[in-house]
Amino acid sequence: MNSEELKQAYTLADDLFDNLAAEIHPVNVEKGFWAEPVMMDKYAAKLALIHSEVTEVLEALRKSQGADKVTEEFADILIRTFDLYGTLVEDGEAEPWLYDIMREKMETNKNRAPKHGNRWG
Ligand SMILES: [Mg+2]
Repeated sequence: MNSEELKQAYTLADDLFDNLAAEIHPVNVEKGFWAEPVMMDKYAAKLALIHSEVTEVLEALRKSQGADKVTEEFADILIRTFDLYGTLVEDGEAEPWLYDIMREKMETNKNRAPKHGNRWG
């Protein structure tokens, strides 16, 4: 494929993606995915931010940014997690006994199969 053919292929792909977006978006609007935000959207955004902090740990390790940075990003994960958990408890979406549940799960995990029976993890 020469450079002119490649340029035409990119243009076709660009048009295709624009056409797909133009087709997909109105359907999603009709299905309510762009309606006024509801309470759960707020939780989803906070969960996404927890994910972003997990990614920051990965990047700190991948880029050898140091043990301090890795620890700092773990702190961010916990801060965001406890913030969301507290809000979910206040809103009646979670129970206020996280510590007890965590201790129970830690005990249960002691008796589970290696890798909890999964191939990796
Ligand atoms: Mg961070």
